Amino acid sequence: MAELICIVCPKGCHLQVDEENNYKVTGNNCGRGIVYGKQELINPVRTITSTCRIKEANLPRIPVKTNETIPKGKMDEIMHEINQVELTAPIHIGDIIIPNILDTGVDIVACKNMEKVN
Ligand code: SF4
Repeated sequence: MAELICIVCPKGCHLQVDEENNYKVTGNNCGRGIVYGKQELINPVRTITSTCRIKEANLPRIPVKTNETIPKGKMDEIMHEINQVELTAPIHIGDIIIPNILDTGVDIVACKNMEKVN
């Protein structure tokens, strides 16, 4: 029996997941906890939020994120790739910063408009 805390909402239910009983989830207060508990043991995924360096903007970094969830085991490699990037303004919300990162089928996208400054 695995025990984990659901991170889907701030309530933070304490889940028990029974790997020997078809990943039966208990301790959840809603159905999203069942989905999360099963997925966390079978194929854990995360959304990454981070920042990239940007030149010629009014701030030195721009917030970015994955446009879909990625396998939890690839987080370190993906963070490494994000940290290599240096952008140049202007960049706009939704612009693809890194397409198909590490062949995951997921893009890194900008989360903020940052215009060029002189
Ligand atoms: S099980 Fe439902 S109510 Fe409990 S933390 Fe997860 S999402 Fe929130």
